[in-house]
Amino acid sequence: MPGRRGCLIRIPANRQPPVTSVSPKPASDPARPGTERPNLLGMTPGELGEALDSHFLGRGQPAYRARQTARWVHAGDARSIAAMTDLPLAERNALERSFRLEEPELDTVSVSTDGTAKHLWRLRGGEVVESVLIPAPGRLTLCISSQAGCALACRFCATGWSGFGRQLSAAEIAGQYRASARWAGEHGMGSVSNVVFMGMGEPLANRKAVFPALTILNSGYGLGARRITVSTVGVIPGIEALAERREQFRLALSLHAPVSELRRELIPLEKRYPLDQLINTLEAFNRSGGRRITFEYTMIRGVNDDLALLPPLTGLARRVQAFVNLIPFNPIPYVDWRPSHRNRVQAYRQGLEEAGVPVAVREPRGRDIDAACGQLRAARYPGRRSAHPVEDASPADLPQPGEGPQ
Ligand code: SF4
Repeated sequence: MPGRRGCLIRIPANRQPPVTSVSPKPASDPARPGTERPNLLGMTPGELGEALDSHFLGRGQPAYRARQTARWVHAGDARSIAAMTDLPLAERNALERSFRLEEPELDTVSVSTDGTAKHLWRLRGGEVVESVLIPAPGRLTLCISSQAGCALACRFCATGWSGFGRQLSAAEIAGQYRASARWAGEHGMGSVSNVVFMGMGEPLANRKAVFPALTILNSGYGLGARRITVSTVGVIPGIEALAERREQFRLALSLHAPVSELRRELIPLEKRYPLDQLINTLEAFNRSGGRRITFEYTMIRGVNDDLALLPPLTGLARRVQAFVNLIPFNPIPYVDWRPSHRNRVQAYRQGLEEAGVPVAVREPRGRDIDAACGQLRAARYPGRRSAHPVEDASPADLPQPGEGPQ
């Protein structure tokens, strides 16, 4: 395609994000191996009901004790089992001996002048992850993390540069929601209306935790499936698995380049799951039940904003009836890239509109608080960045479901 080569960017080997290999982590508290009590926050409503029924029946308690406890879990205001004040003290103590109610611990909160609030959460073992509350007229969106760090090493992403820490558990994912939603309520931001899995990590590379977390958010906390968006850089088996779920969860594809050659430069996973296969998978996702797909397109000056890329972008969007979000690049410390010029962003928007593609320009939020994914973590914990960057991502670098604690 004319002009395409001009969009390619070569990053010197010493300016590549680190790609970390992943080794399985223990599933229990390293300090007390084999003694872990299940976290109530990581159970789907079905699992929670069964576990609590069995617990209270075994103690000769009435059946409503299980429902009482589940209400405390999903109402979100009790920070501990001890705070479930309508349970008798003896029952709280007994529950505490068999279960735990543990949210991620708040490390830092930063509030932007635009109202965006970013939380840094500390997990067991010392890892930290981010979530972001993003207010807008009529809605409050929560962006949550599914992994501590990320192994996929996308060039434009601060998390990719920080390397992979570990998988999050379902409890740690749902716990971000629970703690953030309570914080939002306590600080006058209202109720969380939407959740997007666009924080740290590739959610479809942690399906063992993300899929139950989707169930917990949807049928435990009552968030409509259409208000929950899973964002991926293109893990095809994960998209296929999401399509099989009966709930209408939404899917966002981090596209960022409409041609494979350029996409490989930005997203190493493109080598494993190339664009043509990915688009075929999205077409099948569409056929599975009328769920809207969004393309995320971060616009980087001189990298992926050549006008020659507009027709292929339009073509892909039309093929899968995607909504396109154009997002001017939010600079990160690791590369010298800048956001596209405003008039280039508008040219893209106009071109997409004229082709009948629904499109919006999303201004990055919270720039003054390092709200781009992974930036706050990197700023607070610069030592977490890998000292051994390697050339590229390989299939072995993709974390598999099941790695990490529960
Ligand atoms: S964009 Fe997503 S998949 Fe890519 S490195 Fe960042 S967190 Fe990982």
